[in-house]
Amino acid sequence: MLDRPTTLKDYQTYIDGTWCNAASGKKFQTFDPYTGEPWALIPECDARDVDRACEAAYRAFDTGPWPAMTQTARGRLLRRIAGLIEKHAEHLAEVEVRDNGKLISEMLAQLKYLPEWYYYYGGLADKIHGQVVPVDRPDIFGYTLKEPVGVCAFITPWNSPLMLVGWKLAPALAAGCTAVIKPSEFTTASLLEFIKLVIEPAELPRGVVNVVSGYGAVVGEPLVTHPKVAKVAFTGGTVTGARVNELAAKSFKKVSLELGGKSPNIVFDDCVLDDAVAGAISGIFAATGQTCIAGSRLLLQDTIHEPFVEKLIAMARTAKLGDPGLVETQVGPVTTPPQYQKILSYIDIAKAEGARCVLGGGPAPKEEGGGKYFVKPTIFTGVNNRMRIAQEEVFGPVLSVIKFRDEEEAVAIANDIAYGLGAGVWTQSVRRATTMARRIRAGTVWVNTYRAVSFLMPFGGYKASGIGRENGAEAVEAYLQTKSVWINNAPGGGNPFVMRTATS
Ligand code: NAD
Repeated sequence: MLDRPTTLKDYQTYIDGTWCNAASGKKFQTFDPYTGEPWALIPECDARDVDRACEAAYRAFDTGPWPAMTQTARGRLLRRIAGLIEKHAEHLAEVEVRDNGKLISEMLAQLKYLPEWYYYYGGLADKIHGQVVPVDRPDIFGYTLKEPVGVCAFITPWNSPLMLVGWKLAPALAAGCTAVIKPSEFTTASLLEFIKLVIEPAELPRGVVNVVSGYGAVVGEPLVTHPKVAKVAFTGGTVTGARVNELAAKSFKKVSLELGGKSPNIVFDDCVLDDAVAGAISGIFAATGQTCIAGSRLLLQDTIHEPFVEKLIAMARTAKLGDPGLVETQVGPVTTPPQYQKILSYIDIAKAEGARCVLGGGPAPKEEGGGKYFVKPTIFTGVNNRMRIAQEEVFGPVLSVIKFRDEEEAVAIANDIAYGLGAGVWTQSVRRATTMARRIRAGTVWVNTYRAVSFLMPFGGYKASGIGRENGAEAVEAYLQTKSVWINNAPGGGNPFVMRTATS
């Protein structure tokens, strides 16, 4: 059971190695989505705090102990961070549940797995290097250096706060960058606890990690446009991502974007039916559907449509709604009031479009285990892929079931969407699995599983689902730039008015 003290916890933010209030002196309340009550106060930063944080991060990047540290020492520091997360995983998970209302079982699984990111990139830190280049001139010794890009701005959403910070922070620190983090205004507390319990005791040099808490555009836009920021890594909605991309482009900042999705979970009639039913459930009702990789479009082969839907409804009906702080709960509240309204409005849209609601379809009252911001697990059949309920991200427990005839039609429907984040394929045929994996335009394809992630596996989107990849060895490249060094070992210079090529 989650401890829910009734007194408001009062947080400060963390800039330049110091706990401080916002320049405005203002604070805003953060809410517990399960009780609907405020539980903590968060500093309301603005452009002045952003400027202070970016200047501090730049100083830390440019001078002092951080740039002087060997890559091996940086790796050791990252591993120290990993060990401290292990020690505090339970507490951090509980704070996340208090702030975003997601299940304790889900947040604890994330927090217990999170150290792996810091261990992995800690191990990678001293394997980052350039190479000697056999330049096509005998007197030149040529080589490349891999250098950190500089100050990185991280902007993160509310659904998996510390995990999504870790996907950015761990490779960035391994590369030698410094960071200014702007968490979602709905879920700031776990990041501030992470600083207190992990970053401070790990003894990172002052200014290497900074936090600017506050509202989206007020903090996010000055951060993205700040002249000392070299790189922006953003996770959030597609509309916000487009704005961030546009602002960052004006000053040629490097950008990576992890955005929304409307992922197809495709079930063929040669699947193991019970596995696929469980996979469909985990794709949409886990995390109350508040996950970028939600399998929100269930594509069912017409030959198994009826028995599959029957089993799906039977299993979804048993989902236990309730307090996200209890391990037995399976579906918790929606995280934010605007998100709750948005989900309900999409249910109305689907009904108006002529989709058939076969389960749920509205708020879940207290008598059914729900409460203030609960939506019943909802299934629509008879969905046409051109309907808004099939094309737009709902970010809630609402599933659209779409029929298909054969592989060709499944591919056409799967790809007929602006997004390309994930996809599921359920089949026992190796030929079909590999063909579908090749033909679906998405950053991840899961076959006979769904919603699996790892620090080792690149993650990111095709099309409107984003730019760049997080996780895996290639993620560190997003925080590096290459410098080419030419050393001439020959006397004299040739014609100074002609470019030095192999032939001049
Ligand atoms: P959001 O886009 O509303 O907010 C994300 C972050 O951007 C928040 O910190 C917010 O304060 C900030 N922000 C808002 N306006 C801004 C602006 N003008 N300039 C700069 N920053 C601004 O997203 P959300 O509602 O917090 O999260 C849900 C979305 O995130 C969904 O669309 C989901 O698919 C997406 N998401 C994607 C991934 C992924 O890895 N692809 C993971 C999780 C969530």
